[in-house]
Amino acid sequence: MTAQSHVQHLLDFIDASPSPYHVISTLEKWLADWHFTKLSETQTWLLEAGGRYYVVRDDSSVIVFVLGTKPLAETGYKIIGAHTDSPGLRLKPNAAYSDNGLLRLGVEVYGGAILATFADRDLSLAGRMSYKNTANQLATCLIKIDEPLVRLPNLAIHLNRNVNEDGLKLHKQHELPLILANLNQQLPADYLHHLLATAAGITPEQILTSDLTVYDTQKGCFWGAEQAFYANSQLDNLASCHAALTALLNEENITAEKTCVCAFFDHEEVGSESQKGAAGSFLSDVLARIALATNTPRADYQRALAQSFMLSADMAHAYQPNFPAAYDNQHKIIMNQGVVIKSNANQRYSTSDTSAALFIHYCQQANVPYQFYAHRCDLPCGSTIGPVISAQLGIRTIDIGSPLWAMHSIRESAGVLDHAYLIKVLSHFFSHQV
Ligand code: ZN
Repeated sequence: MTAQSHVQHLLDFIDASPSPYHVISTLEKWLADWHFTKLSETQTWLLEAGGRYYVVRDDSSVIVFVLGTKPLAETGYKIIGAHTDSPGLRLKPNAAYSDNGLLRLGVEVYGGAILATFADRDLSLAGRMSYKNTANQLATCLIKIDEPLVRLPNLAIHLNRNVNEDGLKLHKQHELPLILANLNQQLPADYLHHLLATAAGITPEQILTSDLTVYDTQKGCFWGAEQAFYANSQLDNLASCHAALTALLNEENITAEKTCVCAFFDHEEVGSESQKGAAGSFLSDVLARIALATNTPRADYQRALAQSFMLSADMAHAYQPNFPAAYDNQHKIIMNQGVVIKSNANQRYSTSDTSAALFIHYCQQANVPYQFYAHRCDLPCGSTIGPVISAQLGIRTIDIGSPLWAMHSIRESAGVLDHAYLIKVLSHFFSHQV
């Protein structure tokens, strides 16, 4: 496949996946094409060497694996980690309320979103809903309202004269609620419930709870001369999930001797501490159960962990020439010039000198360019799932990823060549014997 077609596939994947729940549902369709078997954590697992499996926890984290043909103690696990969530706005439980004839929806800020980018966008709602079915049993369904439904209109410059000097500042409680409707006889105050019920094919009385995210209905696109760049929401970190799974799903890797794992977690943007987050037990539980199901003795499981390697794949801050002072002079990441190795002496990234050396070895063998990123010392550095998992499992890890502009904007940009480079080196990682 060409770099362009890989990115088109990524953009289609994101457009079909406006919430972490939809990410998993889209991935499940993709995995079905490759004849993967879904495992349940509540059932006994019967695994076969060379078999293809995946496990979902609470509908928005997933671990996909291909069981190697060699014993775990001889090979260890090869893992790529990424996250399914993106910063943004989530609806509060009692979201809808009226204000001077307008129906507003109260929201909470999820993670570190650039709030100003949500203004004046064609927004809508997507997520998961719980309800009682006609047999009076609990059930869940996915909700995705396709057309633009809600909006955060900017204040006119005549009412906010200093907006270009001071930037758009939005008070999180008072100035983020979204506008849904003009209230009138046809539109009752519980209009939102009616709308969601209609979308789910149930009655409003059946609805119990929902977890709805605000998403941008604008589709992804290529831009720039020779379509060198692309833009969409959620590139952080669906671009990494897409690259990792594309790397796993090729004929060479799927028959590998080693056990290859893709682990994608929800809740990274809010610190990973949850039932399904990277700081929880999901990955260690699944790796341990793979060992149990293959009759691997405890000591051999520990041997397997000791020789495992994880790539924590997440996006990196590309150099934006309008803001040169934001970057360390020696660590300017240039768009379309290769995979980024992220390091931080304070262990905000899990990269060590030796894990970086091993990754560079992969890059060289795969003929993929790479670049080093380090944050400015006078700015707090972000983190990833890498340090959390590395600490928890004792697995050597590296933080890598593709260059990105406008991280945590609702419209992020990246380079087409970089996505293809990432897929190429991740694929080499899975297929390589050392
Ligand atoms: Zn991220």
